[in-house]
Amino acid sequence: MTLDSDVLLWSTVLAILLSSLILSRSIYVYTRSSQRKPKHFPFLRLPPELRSSIYEYLVEWNPIYPPLPPLPESQLGRLVKWVAFIVRWNPRYSYRNPMLLVNRQIHAEFIELLCMRKSFLLKVDKFNQNKECIWPIPSSTIAQIRKCDLKIIATSDMLEADDPRSITEDFSLRDRVCDQLARMVKLQRVNLHIHALGDPLWNPLWMWYYISLAFKDVPNIKFRAITFSLHSISPIPNLLAKNKEGLWEWRCPFGHQIEADANRVQPIREFCSNLYKECETCDAPSTP
Ligand SMILES: [Zn+2]
Repeated sequence: MTLDSDVLLWSTVLAILLSSLILSRSIYVYTRSSQRKPKHFPFLRLPPELRSSIYEYLVEWNPIYPPLPPLPESQLGRLVKWVAFIVRWNPRYSYRNPMLLVNRQIHAEFIELLCMRKSFLLKVDKFNQNKECIWPIPSSTIAQIRKCDLKIIATSDMLEADDPRSITEDFSLRDRVCDQLARMVKLQRVNLHIHALGDPLWNPLWMWYYISLAFKDVPNIKFRAITFSLHSISPIPNLLAKNKEGLWEWRCPFGHQIEADANRVQPIREFCSNLYKECETCDAPSTP
């Protein structure tokens, strides 16, 4: 065996040994790191003000009550969720903010901020109108709500009368709704929206009239505005709003005053007239 072949042999042996050492060291480091417990960020040890600033970025959706059922775990359901996530559309499951599920402390802190920043959409329709507790909101949350929008999807049976001629002052739904609103002791602003679903006996105008009449002067609940809509394409009617003196007045959709609402019980003919009355400010010719 020559000198060159000895050098080649020992070089090869040395290279194999070094490679084995490097490989075994890499495997050791990888195994140790995979067995090591992951480090968690100590979020709850941050000052409360800093945690609150972080929550501000996570409060995205206005809470809806009653919550809609979750989308089915089908291919279509998953596709809808995926599209909703991409386009940031407000899907039916969006009221479930994951922050509310972390632990009791984060739930309480997040709910407090949610109630300060967001307006709760509270719906009343044929599915919950007969329930004693119309919106399943915990008492601790109800007491912190600052703003809400009450949306009534009105049908004729909601008014507890077969036809408009037999309607009475006794409107139990109004009482149950106002009982829950009265528990919102920090409530600063509440709007009422009446979406009328008419039928052969009930013109939507009657529904708008009776429901707005029932709610507009409820003691202790300060409604700021009452708006109206239909389940069809039609011109947007005017709205009722409170002025600075706390009195109701008719306004156009752009906020101009149309008529003072002097009478608490406005005759229905006058109500309908003001509902679609044209706004003189909007119709005024613009100056060149
Ligand atoms: Zn106007």
